[in-house]
Amino acid sequence: MRIGILGCGQLARMLALAGWPLGLRFAFLADPGDSGDCVRGLGDLVSYPDASESLGVEQLAKAVYEALSEPDVITVEKESVPVDLLTALKAYCAVYPDPSAVRICQNRGAEKTFIESIGASMAPKIVVNTIAELEAAVAELEFPVIVKTCEEGYDGLNQWKMNEQADLAEFLIDRESIAESVVEKRVNFSREISLILVRAASGATAAYPATQNWHEGGILRASMAPAQNVDQDLAEQIEDLKNRVLSNIDYVGVLAIECFIVDGKLLVNELAPRVHNSGHWTQQGAATSQFENHLRAIAGLPLGSTQVHGFAGMANLLGVEVNAVKATKPNAFFHTYNKSVRPNRKVGHINILHDDAESLKKQLDETLAEIYG
Ligand code: AMP
Repeated sequence: MRIGILGCGQLARMLALAGWPLGLRFAFLADPGDSGDCVRGLGDLVSYPDASESLGVEQLAKAVYEALSEPDVITVEKESVPVDLLTALKAYCAVYPDPSAVRICQNRGAEKTFIESIGASMAPKIVVNTIAELEAAVAELEFPVIVKTCEEGYDGLNQWKMNEQADLAEFLIDRESIAESVVEKRVNFSREISLILVRAASGATAAYPATQNWHEGGILRASMAPAQNVDQDLAEQIEDLKNRVLSNIDYVGVLAIECFIVDGKLLVNELAPRVHNSGHWTQQGAATSQFENHLRAIAGLPLGSTQVHGFAGMANLLGVEVNAVKATKPNAFFHTYNKSVRPNRKVGHINILHDDAESLKKQLDETLAEIYG
């Protein structure tokens, strides 16, 4: 079976690495300027057809489908893909997840509306389009707030933390207008967790245990699973949230939900319609990785067991030169993305396994200290 992936970054790489043993073959559609280094050797790398701006979306879909050598299924490795193209590709082959789900996750405003519509909780927020609306929203929500553009924002990009009026004034210097944005109350969370779910084309679902995450500057730095101290009340909230999401979205593949825990209450931060950085630990920590399960889901195979033995952690390698010689240990597994190093760029990760949570956290902390000093 041939899988076409829109995008050619590290998630595409890890999908392909998981798919080759299943007999799957891959073609990747690179965005203009993408080097394709992450997926080199793992399938065909194709570019957008020449003069693609002048083509209608139906013609573009046909050209992309042919350039990808007529895949059986098309999927995505990021949310910033042209949804109209994805929709038009449905005329040629299965497209998972459905473009309607990608559209929801692509725009923070639409995403928050969806989260609200399914009765899930989140930080207080207001969507704004103008500077006057922004000022009014900040006045209503009160500092501290965080302003995030609705589109093209990830890993702390296009986000501004504001603690006081001076921060807002600084943000507005030299700005005559703003992009559509969400103003969110900054919540004082005790922890961040994420849920990695998967649904097969048959409707079968599976989930990995909740993952605890640590971010720095808006970028994931480390994860650990199963998350500790999940009491019955939190476990029930997690179960309820999973059911609300899965029963309200037309979805096949892996879906991630990022959450805050504030005073024991689960608040949804955002949804990702794809395999997720906070699920990388599943490569060694679960019977079936998130990557294999995404492929199983979209290829019509039975989902694999999400069973976890012991505890697994993940340390992200952000803008640092680390190699396998330094990073591998009997219980530590190095994954490189074949990327050049730039500040804060995700270039790899290390998965760590332990039988007990305390030893895992200790080794995770030591590994982070070794990497970042
Ligand atoms: P996001 O891009 O929305 O996933 O945000 C990246 C990170 O910024 C989150 O994982 C949090 O650590 C932090 N963050 C985002 N929104 C909020 C919020 N409303 N309150 C507190 N921290 C936040």
